[in-house]
Amino acid sequence: MTRHAPVRSARVALVAPPWSLYTRPSIQVGALKAFVQSRFADLPIAAHHVHLVVAAAVGYRRYHAVSERTWLAEAVFAALLYPERKEAIARFFARQSAAVASLRAADFDEILCRAAAGVEDWLAAVDWTRTRLVGLTSALCQFTAALYIARRIKTLNPATTAVIGGPAFSFESSSAALAFFPEIDVVVAGEGELPLAHLLQHHVREGCGLDQLPPLAAVQTRFTPPAETADRPFSQMENLDHLPYPDFDEYAETLSAFDPAQRFFFTLPVELSRGCWWQGARGAPGCAFCNLNQQWRGYRSKSAPRAVAEIDALTRRYKTLNVALMDNVLPRSSAAQVFRGLAELGKDLNLFGEIRATTAAAELERMHAAGLQRVQIGIEALSTRLLRKMHKGTRAIQNLEIMKHCERLGITNLANLIAHFPGSDESDVRETLHTLEFALPFHPLTFVGFWLGLGSPVWRRPADYGLRSVSSHPHWARLFPAAIARGFPFALQTGRGEALRQRRLWQPVRRALRAWSKRYERLHRGPFGEPILGYRDGGDFLIVRERRPEGEFATHRLEGLSRKIYLFCEIHRPLTLIAQRFPQAAADRIEGFLRQLTDQRLMFAENGSYLSLAVPERRPRPGGVDSAAETAIRSC
Ligand code: SF4
Repeated sequence: MTRHAPVRSARVALVAPPWSLYTRPSIQVGALKAFVQSRFADLPIAAHHVHLVVAAAVGYRRYHAVSERTWLAEAVFAALLYPERKEAIARFFARQSAAVASLRAADFDEILCRAAAGVEDWLAAVDWTRTRLVGLTSALCQFTAALYIARRIKTLNPATTAVIGGPAFSFESSSAALAFFPEIDVVVAGEGELPLAHLLQHHVREGCGLDQLPPLAAVQTRFTPPAETADRPFSQMENLDHLPYPDFDEYAETLSAFDPAQRFFFTLPVELSRGCWWQGARGAPGCAFCNLNQQWRGYRSKSAPRAVAEIDALTRRYKTLNVALMDNVLPRSSAAQVFRGLAELGKDLNLFGEIRATTAAAELERMHAAGLQRVQIGIEALSTRLLRKMHKGTRAIQNLEIMKHCERLGITNLANLIAHFPGSDESDVRETLHTLEFALPFHPLTFVGFWLGLGSPVWRRPADYGLRSVSSHPHWARLFPAAIARGFPFALQTGRGEALRQRRLWQPVRRALRAWSKRYERLHRGPFGEPILGYRDGGDFLIVRERRPEGEFATHRLEGLSRKIYLFCEIHRPLTLIAQRFPQAAADRIEGFLRQLTDQRLMFAENGSYLSLAVPERRPRPGGVDSAAETAIRSC
């Protein structure tokens, strides 16, 4: 049993490794720093946003290009971790970066040297001999960097305890992490606040050795007895309102010490919730491909007044108005109140957030009024059949609807279309290509190949999705020695049995998305930013105008009842409801009219529901959508 003498001047370092977005401080490190500092006011705790330091060393443009691609990001520090593998990793980097215009294969050596130099300069500025504990956060793209930084710190002071946590680690992988990576002493599974406070109290302040640390479910060391059950309890905050505001002071100080040419207005990361309300809602297992919620049990969100006060305080403190809401998905119950509160602040906020496609038009308008400029919508597919397989709980018509509302409001929609999903078939692809023809007036989706996340529903039940087996992605074997690549359960996995068939199947969609992107770019970037499919309302008639790639327009006039029906379908409506609303026309006449507009791609029809696709050429009036009826037909 070991016990260190309690060291009055013991220091704690919290580290955000590359390659997370350099334009934002690390929310994990900022939140942890604030929490543990509030509990241990006398302990010197420093936050190190090393990703920013390395971005400046590598050059922002190149850093950004690498940070957007998992394998490029992981390759750089893998070559530093295992220098004997450098040649092979350089060839791997060259292959992976071949299609990246802003990178050349020859950049690898330079990126490597600059990244290593950035880390060394930062290490040299800290007195590691007095650092008792270093905590490193590791998500996708940060895995090899976190290991490398832990190793370098342990070289400078072997007595420093290295604690690692974050989405790259889970209960499933903690024992293996301790077995394979000697630079790690402690693995934290789940969120870090309570486990880190536990370590600071017993290990740092009281001087307990790791072999005599009082047990805590989420904290695993080499001395922790094997868990009796795979279902270990998390150690997490019950009420997120009890967290202090995150502390980004060190990030802001680092940035302000840069040359003026390297400074920028950074984006504040803010979390309103942890977990995902869709997972578990009405018994839903969550989206089949999703492993974003491995760190949490259940769903928690901050209260609306607290969320608004936090954003107000952080924007005031750091004098910036760009805010990225980091939630996996924005809260369902309190979002309206949060955005109303943000609008009342009267600040010109520029907000980013992730939302579900079921977000109502009126709610999206409120969010936009508060400053929502960019969204990542959980679109994922344009086929209802496929969305069902993904357990998305949405339909293609809802996806088109929210894409249309983003277009209407001028919100940039950064959504993806997931291809190669295991178990997807010819009918899914056919339906995707059909829906895509109706989506052409809206911001294109990004084509993303399916990747298998450790712990996701597909990973847990591969046979249900036509996969014979699952294992760590083969690319890890290019970066790590064979024993580690075989034995460590990496967060990025692969499934056997479907890959080739899926790649062939989705080729036409890949081509169609490329064409969509080019078409949108050409048509939408006119001098006045006019919509591709827009309408002007004349009171008792409507002029719908479609801009075509050849430069000509197709114009349609809808008069009287036709106009009213078209406007009523600004949100998707079942035929029965349309017929009820307009009893002056026979249902079959209405249906004929709707079918005609669908044939002309002015409306989209799915399973007896209709959605008009044109958006006002003028920006919308507030409350322009019939929100009472909308609430009635919202699916979740
Ligand atoms: S993909 Fe988004 S909505 Fe689906 S379970 Fe994950 S976090 Fe929730």
